[in-house]
Amino acid sequence: MAEILVIEDDKAIQNLMKISLREEGYGIKGVSTARAGIDYAATGVVDLIILDLGLPDMDGINVVHAIRAYSENLPIIVVSARSDEAEKIKCLDAGVNDYVQKPFSTAELMARIRAALRHSAHTEQASRFENGALTIDYAARSVYLSGTEIHLTNYEYKVLCVLAQNVGKTLTHNFIISKVWGTGGNDAAGLRVFMAGIRRKIEKDPYTQEFIRTDVWVGYRMNKL
Ligand code: CA
Repeated sequence: MAEILVIEDDKAIQNLMKISLREEGYGIKGVSTARAGIDYAATGVVDLIILDLGLPDMDGINVVHAIRAYSENLPIIVVSARSDEAEKIKCLDAGVNDYVQKPFSTAELMARIRAALRHSAHTEQASRFENGALTIDYAARSVYLSGTEIHLTNYEYKVLCVLAQNVGKTLTHNFIISKVWGTGGNDAAGLRVFMAGIRRKIEKDPYTQEFIRTDVWVGYRMNKL
């Protein structure tokens, strides 16, 4: 069963999470500072991190940067009392998997944890990606829709792969751009042109957003079908 690290300085919330996560059968480690969390995550036994942003020793976003410096795939779910959209985008830019606003129900948190763990199990295998009628064969660098090959340009292919590798997760414009072109290599308007090209090729109707959904002002998400 998965090992979950809870980085949360509010003891009452930390204890509540420990109790409910243990009931679900997860292994739990709770720490109260960013420093202790970064150190524990570095031991390599952690499968998922639940992170509070308001920590006594440093901002939680620095924990995300510290962990993403050595692990792109370790799932991080941020729980925050801040309802600030800019804060949320900052977290998604830094590569967190999900963002849950306090107060939240235990059931909601459990669902987010299951989704994040499924996603990380998915990214570990994969020489081939399948989602509904869409297939990406990474080795052959080919894309198929219901078995028929679709011809994408080099950048369209790269954008599609970034979305596929993060299926079910909203990616910010900056995140996609940094993965495909490098930081500052394109802008949201430029990205929109590539996205329109991909949609023309893979969506039955470019307006239905069956595969790729626009999150207005934030970015794009590939729907899990
Ligand atoms: Ca706190």
